[in-house]
Amino acid sequence: MARTADHGGGVRSIRVPIPDNPLGHTLVYVVDTDGGPVLVDTGWDDPDSWDALVEGLTACGTSITEITGVLVTHHHPDHHGLCGRVREASGAWIAMHAADSAIVRRTRDTRPERWFVYMEGKLAAAGAPEEHLAPLRAARARGSLPGFSPALPDREIVPGDLLDLPGRRLRAIWTPGHTPGHVCLHLEEEHPAGLPGHGRLFSGDHLLPGITPHIGLYEDPDDATLTDPLGDYLDSLERIGRLAPAEVLPAHQHTFPDAPVRVRELLAHHEERLGDLLALLGTPLTPWQLAERMEWNRPWEEIPYGSRHIAVSEAEAHLRRLVKTGRAEAVTASDPVTYVAV
Ligand SMILES: [Zn+2]
Ligand SMILES: [Zn+2]
Repeated sequence: MARTADHGGGVRSIRVPIPDNPLGHTLVYVVDTDGGPVLVDTGWDDPDSWDALVEGLTACGTSITEITGVLVTHHHPDHHGLCGRVREASGAWIAMHAADSAIVRRTRDTRPERWFVYMEGKLAAAGAPEEHLAPLRAARARGSLPGFSPALPDREIVPGDLLDLPGRRLRAIWTPGHTPGHVCLHLEEEHPAGLPGHGRLFSGDHLLPGITPHIGLYEDPDDATLTDPLGDYLDSLERIGRLAPAEVLPAHQHTFPDAPVRVRELLAHHEERLGDLLALLGTPLTPWQLAERMEWNRPWEEIPYGSRHIAVSEAEAHLRRLVKTGRAEAVTASDPVTYVAV
């Protein structure tokens, strides 16, 4: 399959591979402006991904050195990973929503020790069994965590604002849920092929044609606020549905029309999932026990160690939503805390 695609109206995309990942690739968009080309996301920080990006830009009739800016939909490494190298090669600015920039800053500043202690505490409180916690403790004793130093953004994407892109109308829409600072970017220009609707939407991971983005907790060792990421996500979905873009340009898979239809599907999916969980909560369960009983893309026994963290985080996000909407509650004096349907 061709690595690049022309979407018309000065927008092209490059398929940048993600190593060892079933998602396959990140779609990096190249948006022409009167001041030079700007990227939406960059791809995973890996030599092959870098080569694909550089070659893709050449195939698009520009080059890595011509890039003037990078708009990052959210801080995840398949989107933000190559930003540092792009900036080094071109002098481009990097723009991100403040809430995700804060995560980048924290990732750079937090000692691995602190993360281990935080994750251990969280997982123990969620009811994780000893055999799950032991490897974390062992890793903490070894002090091993892969060195991770994502690039600090130099501009802020301010929700609601038109971005400073000469000759283009691109507006930032804050869509928290998948991450606290996720943004979609709305190209408020007529669709180049005349599709009905309102412009085009770079949707990052917020709205994808065939997969549901992971919604977990916003893990922050410095913040004890009880956030409701799933509630944020559902609100953000409705906002995008009302926008009714003519075409969605997501960061994975492929472009698609009919955003409101996809939004309705996802809203229905989450409502159904919340209903299923509520049925499981007929008896009190810890978040861990709930995760074990939830439906995943494979049986719990086959879910790898690291992915179980993600699964428990997702179970907790759904519990938060159920508690917040008065459908479940914590059982008084249970330790680790269990939840039950009301
Ligand atoms: Zn993501
Ligand atoms: Zn992604």
